[in-house]
Amino acid sequence: MIPAIIAFLIIGIVITAILISPLLIKQHRKRLKSRPFPPLWNAIIENNLPIYLQLSPPERRRLQGHIQVFLTEKQFIGCKGLQVTEEMKLTIASVACLLLLNERGEYFSKLRSILVYPSAYLVTETVATGEYVVEERREARLGESWSRDQVVLSWEQVEQDTQNWQDGHNVVLHEFAHQLDQEDGNSQGVPILPNKSDYPIWAQVMTAEYQQLCNDVQQGVKTVINSYGATNPAEFFAVATETFFEKPQQLLHQHPRLYELLQRYYQVNPRQWGFKD
Ligand SMILES: [Zn+2]
Repeated sequence: MIPAIIAFLIIGIVITAILISPLLIKQHRKRLKSRPFPPLWNAIIENNLPIYLQLSPPERRRLQGHIQVFLTEKQFIGCKGLQVTEEMKLTIASVACLLLLNERGEYFSKLRSILVYPSAYLVTETVATGEYVVEERREARLGESWSRDQVVLSWEQVEQDTQNWQDGHNVVLHEFAHQLDQEDGNSQGVPILPNKSDYPIWAQVMTAEYQQLCNDVQQGVKTVINSYGATNPAEFFAVATETFFEKPQQLLHQHPRLYELLQRYYQVNPRQWGFKD
């Protein structure tokens, strides 16, 4: 009898902990967001992220809050002897948090750590080159997103991409868009959407736009969306995200339905940030 009572008690405690945990996390995040934002951090972001001063004051304050949460919850690991500095953390966090700007509620839920290499890093890949034939290849990479719990970045690339904000390339936006896509366990260019009714529209617009990019690339037509997006639907979503944030005017002009879809998903309108791309 007593062991049964103890078992019930334990189950009760576990269930209570599961129910309370999201509330505690929410409260903790609220406290982090209300902390004063260090002026030195503000100066670093102003210097490294050209888009920062274009944000409205409420957007800037929201971004600062997200950065406080991000830096507390995610671990940065320097690779190949790199010492990850405050500047590196703040630059990466500020770009990644742009994707969360208007209260998405989650902070890249699968992500635990960000590995930072000084520059491009080499990866050994096993590639099938024929039936029963596999080859090992060394490949240089600038960034990647693993569905389990990590994002890997080359700091040199991060720096270059944040300074050149309007060229449509941004490794941080790209890899963290993949993280959003991978939140449901799949990487197919479909992130978790707020309502069930959003999925058919997403599928319709994304499929048509992806197909158009594939056709344009095949025919050698110049496109505002980088041709790498024609690799597969997951890459299309990541590359379209880069274009949306860095070349909003051109994307709206040439792909209004895609722009509208991403505007609804990210709940921001980068056109209002006043850049002439
Ligand atoms: Zn990618």
